[in-house]
Amino acid sequence: MAKQHSLILIKHDGVVRGLIGKIVGRFEDIGLKIIAMKMVWADEKLAKIHYKLDEQWAKNVYEKTKKTRLEQGQEFPFDDPIEYGKMIQSWNIDFLKEGPVIAMVIEGPHAIEIARKIVGTTEPRKAEPGTIRGDYAMMESYELANDKGRVLRNLIHASDSEENANHEISLWFAEEELHHYPKELDKHIGD
Ligand code: ADP
Repeated sequence: MAKQHSLILIKHDGVVRGLIGKIVGRFEDIGLKIIAMKMVWADEKLAKIHYKLDEQWAKNVYEKTKKTRLEQGQEFPFDDPIEYGKMIQSWNIDFLKEGPVIAMVIEGPHAIEIARKIVGTTEPRKAEPGTIRGDYAMMESYELANDKGRVLRNLIHASDSEENANHEISLWFAEEELHHYPKELDKHIGD
């Protein structure tokens, strides 16, 4: 199993709530290796590239939100996935520019899958206890966010595929900012 990399962002809500240490600790506790970390206040350019609007992403966001809101007995009065995606994208861009975030790159076997699992579902209200979103943000919901016309403040971003991880890592870090060093677990998990 080749080791994988994932870009993790502790979003600004996690920073201002003083959760940086707790969130970083979740990744360390699992044994994932942190190979890069810094605080960044994203400008418009970085925010727009990170949250670029692609049609598939817009459709996924639309379908995921619609399904959850209908299951929760709420209305979902939107019929154009692309328009809906554009609205969420612009909320995400505003949120990313709101203040500094912690950006880090983690490394290890199955790193992408493991990170997504410990982060929890997009809507913190639905996230399982034990996940980062479930433990620290469960009061946050689509209902609250959409009623207030703002993004879900769900603490953390984790890359969702190898292709996106590689792209996102190159956006946030220069090659020389990625550090390769041995850790105790390496001898049991190899390259
Ligand atoms: P995830 O972060 O779980 O991978 P997505 O890639 O689907 O989720 O969406 C990116 C981010 O956009 C989410 O983390 C969340 O902050 C925000 N978001 C997604 N859907 C909505 C929505 N319907 N209302 C408000 N914010 C949303």
